[in-house]
Amino acid sequence: MRGAGPGEQARWAAALVRDTPALGPLADAIHEALPRRQTLPVGRALAPLLTRPGLALVGDCGHLVHPMAAQGMNSAVADADRLAAALRECGDLTAASVDRALLAYARARHADLVHVGRISHNAARMVTDLSWTGRLLGRRALRCTGGNDRIRYTVMHNMAGLGTHPLTLLDRLHQIGLLPDPRARQEPAWARHA
Ligand SMILES: Cc1cc2nc3c(=O)[nH]c(=O)nc-3n(C[C@H](O)[C@H](O)[C@H](O)COP(=O)(O)OP(=O)(O)OC[C@H]3O[C@@H](n4cnc5c(N)ncnc54)[C@H](O)[C@@H]3O)c2cc1C
Repeated sequence: MRGAGPGEQARWAAALVRDTPALGPLADAIHEALPRRQTLPVGRALAPLLTRPGLALVGDCGHLVHPMAAQGMNSAVADADRLAAALRECGDLTAASVDRALLAYARARHADLVHVGRISHNAARMVTDLSWTGRLLGRRALRCTGGNDRIRYTVMHNMAGLGTHPLTLLDRLHQIGLLPDPRARQEPAWARHA
């Protein structure tokens, strides 16, 4: 779509609707929205509450991130794992104990999901930002993260949904190559002490 003129865009939209019949009812809206198109909108959402008495939101029904950062399935599995653990820990399955377990599940997951949403949003922006500063920083960050065992370990751990270990300001400076990292070949301290 980048650089496509109005005629080409209209042909693309017609082909999209033709090849994806479920989009038929949206055909007019798609054509009208073409001038305001975003080739890759980077959306995310998190329900303010993950539970109500007798009800828990797990996976995509409770939170969504852009697929680019590959976080949705991880987070859904982590939700299910945490919910199962909370239910196991609640003992007898009475209405009251299950509701307590649901609250424990929501408490344990909500903060992690805020973090997952933020890092996947930032990661997606890093590779989609078309401004020259965005492209420069994004490429440098990808290259420097790939070349730094310590930061790569932390980023992959966070992105796999296995935990929450935010990067420090110093890590960020290493990540964009402004400061050399003498610990680049080490395991992160949090992993050594875990
Ligand atoms: C293009 C794309 C690429 C992605 N890539 C990745 C990736 O690389 N890594 C990653 O971790 N995640 C990725 N994701 C996200 C991941 O697929 C989802 O986060 C994950 O599948 C969510 O699991 P879920 O069980 O919550 O929902 P779903 O997998 O959507 O399961 C919901 C199920 O409920 C069924 N259902 C819906 N309504 C009803 C109803 N009324 N009655 C009965 N059944 C119903 C649906 O048919 C579906 O089977 C990607 C998503 C997309 C769209």
